[in-house]
Amino acid sequence: MFDLQNIRSQFPILNQTVNGKPLIYLDNGATSQKPVSVFESWMKYYTEINANVHRGIHTLSQLATEEMEVSRRKIQRFVNAKNDYEIIFTKGTTEGLNLIAYSLTNLVKKNDEIIISHLEHHSNIVPWQMLCERTGAKLKVIPMDENGILQLDFLDKNLNEKTKIVSVNQVSNALGVVNPIEEIISKVRKNSDALVVIDGAQSVPHMKIDVQKMDCDFFVFSGHKMYAPMGTGILYGKEEILRKIQPFHGGGEMIATCTFEKTTYADLPFKFEAGTPNVGGNIALGAAVDFMEKIGQEQIQHHENALLDYAQQKLLEIEGLRIYGEKAKRTGVVSFNLEGIGISSDVGMILDKLGIAVRTGHHCTQPIMNFFNIAGTVRASFAVYNTFEEIDVLAEGVRKAKRMLS
Ligand code: PMP
Repeated sequence: MFDLQNIRSQFPILNQTVNGKPLIYLDNGATSQKPVSVFESWMKYYTEINANVHRGIHTLSQLATEEMEVSRRKIQRFVNAKNDYEIIFTKGTTEGLNLIAYSLTNLVKKNDEIIISHLEHHSNIVPWQMLCERTGAKLKVIPMDENGILQLDFLDKNLNEKTKIVSVNQVSNALGVVNPIEEIISKVRKNSDALVVIDGAQSVPHMKIDVQKMDCDFFVFSGHKMYAPMGTGILYGKEEILRKIQPFHGGGEMIATCTFEKTTYADLPFKFEAGTPNVGGNIALGAAVDFMEKIGQEQIQHHENALLDYAQQKLLEIEGLRIYGEKAKRTGVVSFNLEGIGISSDVGMILDKLGIAVRTGHHCTQPIMNFFNIAGTVRASFAVYNTFEEIDVLAEGVRKAKRMLS
């Protein structure tokens, strides 16, 4: 049974007023709120077992290590990775993508090609540009159409023996468009030996992930968008590739032996986890997985898709409102503008006065904004605790903003 009131009661932050109005939090694409169970898990670590991991033989250190490894195994199961050591703790999606782009440096040479898409967040653009600068490789971009749908015939024409990496998101943070990942990966496998990187920052919170079925080489996501603390994230990589590539950061924890002449690296996953990790956060990420699994990911997806359909229907009743990517399959996000009102932040400020938190601006996707020739959009993004009544208030708020700004 999907019990929305019970779910909401686990998020005390929602139970407040902002600017004198009940808070309506619709900025989940930027970061979600956290349930009590997540910060209890974090508190338990800091109040009962705080110690550094993997180092000491003392009891607390062993307990902390054990708890973090339990969390790693939860995440392994959550995304269906084959082995727990294919799960690397990171600070978030951005760090995961930078790690991959850096670690692949030795496998990329001048005139090789890296393919991304027009729908990417800056963090799935810039690390590849930096890799191109280091190696002389070229960046190519899968185009999209007016509906935010990727034009995959580009892959048929451009995949070849020079393609070394294809990196795309599963869900666009700016438009909510769900990309046909299976089709993309099957094209890549048929036409090249390229490695496939999937940015799952906006998909993990909303849909079940199976990295083995997907057959990607890397999959990255952030904990803070899926009910876990900030500063947490995951990089999944296939074992054979993680073994082959160089580490990103050097330091403690990631060595097997270290002399001034030569250092050998620790086994997976520690080769990619230099330094003291965010132990409390990583443990709490496991609690966030428990939270999602307890509700059931199908239930979460079902509720959020119903919210999206309802929001789209209510918003499109407003004359002059354009939803971007409307005709594409989408999840979690509705991104829109009002005709004649060029500054999305004006709308956002009026909504804020009504207690409604949305994101405005370019959403770290300037190429998408350039495509539509706009400076930004208003983005409402959903989580499991949002309600249909909140969408009604949002639609009313947008009408009010339209009246005030016209
Ligand atoms: N990719 C996508 C699709 C995102 O939505 C985000 C966050 N907005 C990122 C990457 C970067 O995530 P983080 O800031 O958590 O590293």
